[in-house]
Amino acid sequence: MVHITVIGSCSMDLVVTAERRPLAGETVIGNSFQTVPGGKGANQAVAAARLGAEVTMVGRVGDDVYGEKILENLRKNGVNIQFMMPVANCASGTAHITLAEGDNSIIFVKGANDFVTPEYLEKTEEAVTSTDIVLIQQEIPVKTVEYAAELCSRHRIPLLLNPAPARSVSGELIGRAAFITPNEHECDVLFNGMPRSEALKQFPNKLIITEGKNGARFFNGSREIVVPAFPVEAVDTTGAGDTFNAAFAVAVAEGKKMEEALRFANRAASLSVTKFGAQGGMPFREELEKHR
Ligand code: ATP
Repeated sequence: MVHITVIGSCSMDLVVTAERRPLAGETVIGNSFQTVPGGKGANQAVAAARLGAEVTMVGRVGDDVYGEKILENLRKNGVNIQFMMPVANCASGTAHITLAEGDNSIIFVKGANDFVTPEYLEKTEEAVTSTDIVLIQQEIPVKTVEYAAELCSRHRIPLLLNPAPARSVSGELIGRAAFITPNEHECDVLFNGMPRSEALKQFPNKLIITEGKNGARFFNGSREIVVPAFPVEAVDTTGAGDTFNAAFAVAVAEGKKMEEALRFANRAASLSVTKFGAQGGMPFREELEKHR
């Protein structure tokens, strides 16, 4: 069994549906309310665990009821939560989502995710030093991502950086990552609008651009290769990127070569869009093997 450490965010999504969103100062009556565990870190941890990896998550929750529910969900999905220390007197990360008029509007409050600091990583260092690959995203402080990259390179542990949400990062961080997996928009932000084929050429076998239903693209040192996604009836693409990253990490840790790992990641991510919800659609290993 391969071991993956995910360093990242977790949150509770508070989802309201309504006919329309309220104007400033107005109250409208909603139709439904649901709480759903989310956050890119937690989503990726759950996806990797369902695909058969032993997963350790490094992150923080608050000492509130959402924190308990977030931890319970991770535990239920087989994720090791030993390094998920609650922050005292702090709220867990929450995403306040309104689904109305065919669109969503979101207020994200980082809460305890801001306490995933370099100092915290120092305390939880063994989660990084004793794993096959580290998977990280950008919903935690920049300094923490940079410190994690330093720690991984010091211990020769491969780092998979999923640069989402989009922000530009230092050349040093890019240099230290073994793989970087932006979607098209994130790639443009990451490389300040550099044509994507140029960016790919600069980082052969490292930069992987995901292209939604078209799959994923990388440069193998001599040419660009597109690994296609699988044709499916897309129901909800939320969490497709998270599933892709987790599956790619699992495949790399299992020793699969680039193209085979990307086929595995595409297969998992394509399956994930056939069901509702970010975590709701994340496939288990047996399901994936069935769809070969
Ligand atoms: P999201 O933000 O929706 O989680 P993303 O923008 O980070 O996703 P995408 O490039 O849209 O990332 O999708 C990631 C992967 O998910 C793709 O490379 C592909 O494997 C799969 N995927 C996404 N949309 C579809 C689709 N409509 N049909 C099949 N596969 C899809």
